[in-house]
Amino acid sequence: MTLVHLGLGTNLGDRPANLRAALDALVTIGTVAARSHVWETAPLYVTDQPAFLNMAVALETGLAPLDLLARLKAMEDGLGRVASVRYGPRLIDLDILLYGDVVMEGEVLTLPHPRLHERHFALAPLAEIAGECVHPVLAAGIGTLLERLPEAGDVRRLGPLS
Ligand code: ADP
Ligand code: MG
Repeated sequence: MTLVHLGLGTNLGDRPANLRAALDALVTIGTVAARSHVWETAPLYVTDQPAFLNMAVALETGLAPLDLLARLKAMEDGLGRVASVRYGPRLIDLDILLYGDVVMEGEVLTLPHPRLHERHFALAPLAEIAGECVHPVLAAGIGTLLERLPEAGDVRRLGPLS
């Protein structure tokens, strides 16, 4: 079993319901050990789209990295995500932020998530549940990486998911 950290994001439809549906689906592939508050974040990259809700989840799972990614992609499809422009709107986005301290770089999967350290919307929720975890490539704690980001970022902590 490995403790992995996932990033959840949604900016279409009933966003809290999408997060809830994702959490309910995650219990089929592991045990949810911790979850962050819900954060509301302005879209990056493609900025003329609705705001996101983001959340980080710690999951204890026996799935190997590529199997985990395949299951998450299947969940995205099952929860109604349709192929769209890169970084565009989505019902649900499920990313593997950290897979224990595994480091890999491949065609379909890079660990830790290649853009984790530049994203407030990923680091802020993750720091709540894994602030002391060390990024195995950058050799810095998640809380430190968040503090190092150049700008405060357009992120706002909401409550826990009801
Ligand atoms: P993003 O999550 O960066 O906003 P997408 O969800 O569209 O973008 O993901 C694009 C591709 O990134 C996925 O199809 C997947 O194969 C690849 N990918 C690489 N590393 C990871 C990772 N750690 N977690 C999730 N997807 C990843
Ligand atoms: Mg993704």
